[in-house]
Amino acid sequence: MRPFTYETATDAPEAVRAAAASADAHVRAPVQLIGGGTTLLDLMKLDVMRPERLVDVTPLYARFGRIEATPQGLRLGALVRMSEAAEHPAIARDYPVVAQSLAQAASAQLRNMARLGGNVLQRTRCNYFRDPSYSQCNKRDPGSGCAAIDGFNRLHAVLGTSEACIAHYSGDFAQALIALDATVEVLGRQGPRAIAFADLHRLPGRTPHIETTLEPGELITGFVVPAGQWTRRSTYLKVRDRESYAFALASAAVALDMDGDTVRHARIALGGVATVPWRAREAEALLAGRTLDEAAATEAGRAAFAHAVVHQNNAYKVPLGQATVARALLAAQAMRL
Ligand code: SF4
Repeated sequence: MRPFTYETATDAPEAVRAAAASADAHVRAPVQLIGGGTTLLDLMKLDVMRPERLVDVTPLYARFGRIEATPQGLRLGALVRMSEAAEHPAIARDYPVVAQSLAQAASAQLRNMARLGGNVLQRTRCNYFRDPSYSQCNKRDPGSGCAAIDGFNRLHAVLGTSEACIAHYSGDFAQALIALDATVEVLGRQGPRAIAFADLHRLPGRTPHIETTLEPGELITGFVVPAGQWTRRSTYLKVRDRESYAFALASAAVALDMDGDTVRHARIALGGVATVPWRAREAEALLAGRTLDEAAATEAGRAAFAHAVVHQNNAYKVPLGQATVARALLAAQAMRL
């Protein structure tokens, strides 16, 4: 690991000013804010990320570490630990998709360490990105090419890809947030602002090294999930190679607004199959006003992957993802509230 300096933040605007020194340095920012550090330290040890200065924001926990469940919705501070949110009784009861997405992620040790703000910014598990001995990776070295497109791409995305990058977004919590129309609160040099979670991550396009719409130095401070009767009828289904401590091959976050057996509005988000947290709008539209039965759920699964683009080793993700969507829809419908 390369040498770096470490300091603790005592004030949020000061941390933002420090991180803003990394302006326009999307690939190898010299200053990094660090929370739990569970992604960043990994990538520093692999020599993928090479910050010269780390600013630890966890001392700001008192301000950004709160969970507030009110009749208007749920507010999660960005420094809440994954395990704290996963085990919170009000979240487990009223926002099960949030609790389940967190409980099924990583390992118990990592969930006790990792913070929610860092979780949504985790980087891809593309092996070519994480191994600098491969020279071709547009995300790590813009303009160098993509080793995965003609390489081993079993884990890679089938939705939202580009000719420059097919890396999958590997988180879980983000799918719950995008399905529930959450908002992200951030603090930047110009002060606080809020953005729709759906607008946080960028499709790779020609610039896969620019992963979010955050301005240089902006710090995620919290998430707001609006209340709605669909949040209780919600679930997260994750399919992976082994039952724990594995990333999703395919996942679905589902929240249903039902009128008896008829769908008023289905909210469906996909994980493990797309380059960004992915809202399956076509599948949602197909279900509106329909009776939710096995046939409708299967059709919705197909609609979710209508525009999938597969590569040599990842075609299996289409039928797997379709089945995951269908199973999650039927599981949410069967919930006894
Ligand atoms: Fe890099 Fe993306 Fe290609 Fe992986 S898929 S090698 S992250 S450019």
